Amino acid sequence: MSDWLPKQIDAYKLGRKKAALAGAIDLDSLHELKTMVSMPGSGPGAGTYETRINAKISFDYARGAALIQGQVIADLVVLCQRCLQPMPLRLDSALCFAVQTVSTTATCLVRGTQEFELLEDSGEELDLYGLIEEELILSLPLVARHALSVCPARDYIAQAHEPVTEPGADETTVKPFSGLKDRLRKSKTKPH
Ligand SMILES: [Zn+2]
Repeated sequence: MSDWLPKQIDAYKLGRKKAALAGAIDLDSLHELKTMVSMPGSGPGAGTYETRINAKISFDYARGAALIQGQVIADLVVLCQRCLQPMPLRLDSALCFAVQTVSTTATCLVRGTQEFELLEDSGEELDLYGLIEEELILSLPLVARHALSVCPARDYIAQAHEPVTEPGADETTVKPFSGLKDRLRKSKTKPH
């Protein structure tokens, strides 16, 4: 079991020490992200996949700025927008920030080949979870969907889009979810 990352950090102190942090974050602490990815608790397949968020961060200090570099990997569960079944979603986000006291209109700071997004020092501890949450939200896909080849709705989709006259196109394809297709077909042709 990994340690939890601290919610608030002193970026300058960690930077001067060239410290490194690694640990986990509870999705319950990231309220906004949680509302965006949360599953209805008792739906089919709920609990099949695990939710896990881990980050590794290293700190540095250069010419008045605290540099924060790291990687966040989040394993989340979302609803596939094609079949409405839960699906695992992995987000892999890079953190690259510079905290400095000097106010500037620039939005980034370049050190070597690396570009750091500038954060103005508020004089208070940095909200590390807020920073990570924002990065994860930004890397959420607009529409989450299983790859078509593994989506339970694939046969239904394939059938719906299949040209009517194309003999043999689908003859040898294995259809693990053909039951679902029949069910969908029935509900579609149900008289009103
Ligand atoms: Zn799907």
